Amino acid sequence: MAELAFLGGEPIRKDPLFPGYQTIGEEEKQAVAAVLDSGVLSRYLGTWHEDFLGGTQVRKFEEAWAEVHGARFGVAMNSATSGLYAAAAAAGLGPGDEMIVTPYTMTSSATAALVNNAVPVFADIDPETFNVTAETVRGKITERTKAIMVVHIFGLPADMDPIMELARERGLLVIEDCAQAPLTRYKGRHVGTFGHIGVFSLNYHKHIHTGEGSVVVTDDEGLCERLQLIRNHAEAVVEGKGTANLINMIGFNYRLGEIEAAIGLCQLDKAQGLIDRRRDNVAFLLKGFDGLDGLVPAKVPGDREHAYYLHPLTYRPDVTGVPRDLVVRALRAELPLTRLREQDGVLIGQGYVRPLHLQPLYQTLVGYGEVGCPFKCPHYAGTPNYAKGICPNVERAHETTLITHEFMRPPMSHADMSDAIDAFHKVWDNMKVLRRHEDAR
Ligand SMILES: *Cc1c(COP(=O)(O)O)cnc(C)c1O
Repeated sequence: MAELAFLGGEPIRKDPLFPGYQTIGEEEKQAVAAVLDSGVLSRYLGTWHEDFLGGTQVRKFEEAWAEVHGARFGVAMNSATSGLYAAAAAAGLGPGDEMIVTPYTMTSSATAALVNNAVPVFADIDPETFNVTAETVRGKITERTKAIMVVHIFGLPADMDPIMELARERGLLVIEDCAQAPLTRYKGRHVGTFGHIGVFSLNYHKHIHTGEGSVVVTDDEGLCERLQLIRNHAEAVVEGKGTANLINMIGFNYRLGEIEAAIGLCQLDKAQGLIDRRRDNVAFLLKGFDGLDGLVPAKVPGDREHAYYLHPLTYRPDVTGVPRDLVVRALRAELPLTRLREQDGVLIGQGYVRPLHLQPLYQTLVGYGEVGCPFKCPHYAGTPNYAKGICPNVERAHETTLITHEFMRPPMSHADMSDAIDAFHKVWDNMKVLRRHEDAR
């Protein structure tokens, strides 16, 4: 049996590096050149004027995005963080309100409540899909709940029908964080169109990107208008526009520029192909992982697609007898770095981000100013609870059972992925050695 690289053996492959993530090509170069030639790199005016809604590329991009996702309106923003902040504001979140959200997500899904002076309440996930469910959300609803932020984590749609039914029953607004799930269907319909507002991300790490950027979708004309106002200096505009509802109409500059929008149009054309490629790659990897006891693929219920922003696997230390950190360390030692992201190490990780409720913001409740708003705001009648143990499935996944990797990203070839598969088999063949190593640790 080949000796494990982390114990001094020959690695499966350290060279050449895995190929760098690259989705940008000739089309984008030409589109950018055309915008540069036009001289108009952005065309918003922050007053009520026909250019209030931005330039031609931005408007074309919004329309195209909304159309392929089956939404009525698209509002482009300069990041999904901006989009989520604007969505929570448009939904009317404010002091005293709560928003229910998973703690197993990127920070902005939850800070979207805080920037609007509302308090995030964390709901647990289903351990097989990593998403919140109507059941985990239901137990967190109080008389203060105003909205639910549903994150389609890793690219798998949450079970939206029961969540929407619950929301209707309780009169709650639903925002979908679709940052990891563009063009991904649940029961034949794209995510982002089930809730009241859907937010997509176009940062470099996502399936398609514009450097930084986002599109926010909605079917509701009123919400669309509020999103457009918040994106572009609301307070400076509302008088001229005659806006009646001034709640959260303070405004920001969340505008996306013409260059990014032009790139976005090219990227959108490629999106389905890039996502299909990820799905094919995951199928190839899973076939290769067959026979590895204690490594369980994420459940993908038959009524939905998975976009595989990350590929989650459940690791069962009770089956292998070896803790996850040792297995991941052994796997990393067998495989090369990825070009352009050399500093990130081998792209396989233990868990995902640290569960949000355990991070400093929620552990200290400092928030805004010296008085701890919104957690300790006099308008807030609840008691924030961010203690360890509030979301046991999230904590278990993060600490012991979840392995995520990025070996399915284009342009990884079958030969590249075969090396990753060989590394898993080599480590699994050596479980007995790892158990001995662990005993000696
Ligand atoms: C990437 C991401 C965001 C934020 O996107 P930006 O465009 O970088 O602001 C929000 N939520 C989730 C789930 C993400 O993965």
